[in-house]
Amino acid sequence: MPLRLFDTYARKTRDFEPLNPDRVRMYACGPTVYDYAHIGNLRTYLFEDVLRRVLEFNGYHVQHVVNITDVGHLTSDADTGEDKMEVGAERTGKTAWEIAELYTQAFKDDLLALNAIAPSLWCKATDHIAEQIDEIKAIEANGYAYRTDDGIYFDTSKLDHYGYLARLDVTGLQQGARVDMGDKRNATDFALWKFSPTEQQRQMEWDSPWGRGFPGWHIECSAMSTKYLGEYFDIHCGGEDHISVHHSNEIAQSEASHGTKLANFWMHGYFLQVDNAKMAKSSGEFLRLAVLIERNYDPLAYRYLCLTAHYRSNLSFSWNSLDGAQTALNRLRDASVEWGEPGEPDADYLDRFTGFVNDDLNTARAMALTWDMVRGDLPPATKKATLLQFDRVFGLRLSEWQPAEVVIPDNVFALVEARQTARAEKRWEDADALRDQVQALGFEIEDTREGPQVRPK
Ligand code: AMP
Ligand code: ZN
Repeated sequence: MPLRLFDTYARKTRDFEPLNPDRVRMYACGPTVYDYAHIGNLRTYLFEDVLRRVLEFNGYHVQHVVNITDVGHLTSDADTGEDKMEVGAERTGKTAWEIAELYTQAFKDDLLALNAIAPSLWCKATDHIAEQIDEIKAIEANGYAYRTDDGIYFDTSKLDHYGYLARLDVTGLQQGARVDMGDKRNATDFALWKFSPTEQQRQMEWDSPWGRGFPGWHIECSAMSTKYLGEYFDIHCGGEDHISVHHSNEIAQSEASHGTKLANFWMHGYFLQVDNAKMAKSSGEFLRLAVLIERNYDPLAYRYLCLTAHYRSNLSFSWNSLDGAQTALNRLRDASVEWGEPGEPDADYLDRFTGFVNDDLNTARAMALTWDMVRGDLPPATKKATLLQFDRVFGLRLSEWQPAEVVIPDNVFALVEARQTARAEKRWEDADALRDQVQALGFEIEDTREGPQVRPK
């Protein structure tokens, strides 16, 4: 069953073959660490985690790089407005460096709680200023850059296919946008390097051949992905909002500096929505994973919820749907404990499962198949082994699940002991009365060959 993935660039599902047979090189755009991640952002990282797991399920070794945007992401896509990090610093009263540290750690903690496999490499924009400057120099040397009063810009009109990824109507955009262009030559041109304002000292700024300032947002991904994965690698991914600007610009930069479209496959996760609107950091109202945990949901219930929708469809979040996911996850866990030790997985189910996940990561159908298997009549040891194989992709930690230790209070324990003595002495009425007392305290007794088993009612 070949692995097939939807490539946004080609706008079709294509057979996946690694460019280099011994490893798959994959880059995912990381968060801008000016605030906590919301569960919408986390949906995108869960999609990327499932992608990685499916690649590994197919036997590939994956080199997975994720960046941390800690500078240069402006509040407007038109390269006006302020740097989000500097805004975040002002909002919190901390330095830009401090908030970068704080929100990076919080993001990594969220991923851990969601059982996302850690990337092979994390890389920070501020650790790669020299590489970004080199990339801009190459773009400039090839004739794609120009200078304005406030920075160095990419001239998108120099590329024949600028915006092909997003099927941008460049002429339409050009005609529509005359306002707010500043000194830019074309509406779609974007900043490679911005100069520091003369009237105010920025917290994050560096010297460059063009003057003191900071890199534009898009250049970091071109520079770091090229450094760690090469000029042309297998898969580049991110959320659907990256298609029209960020990824179109990354491609433009790579075409200008290296003559490649950067990645063989471009893949995008669709948004999590709340009340039919996208959940956005900038709106200020968003749900963090911590809020779900405070409300007693297991973070893996959110993971389960994301698995029930295809990554290329919007997912509406509601507390009801999260309840449903928590219940389903609990059932899977209970079933898996009840089945005991695993035997051999069922080959037919495994084939069908592979067919679904290899069909552009169709976890929704793979999950439906799982329930079919759970409810079916395979022997328990086969079910268990099959489920654990599926969980290599689902990542629900089913093999580690232990039912919570039930603590039997001392008084209940004493009553159970007394009942045993009464039974041994054939004082049946006393024994029954003791059982009633245990029940009144919320516990029930089952007499087994190994002795009485006590559990909460
Ligand atoms: P940001 O920190 O804003 O750069 O976003 C981090 C990642 O989350 C990017 O890949 C975005 O495309 C993605 N993203 C943002 N909002 C949502 C959402 N509501 N649902 C899913 N992914 C999102
Ligand atoms: Zn990026």
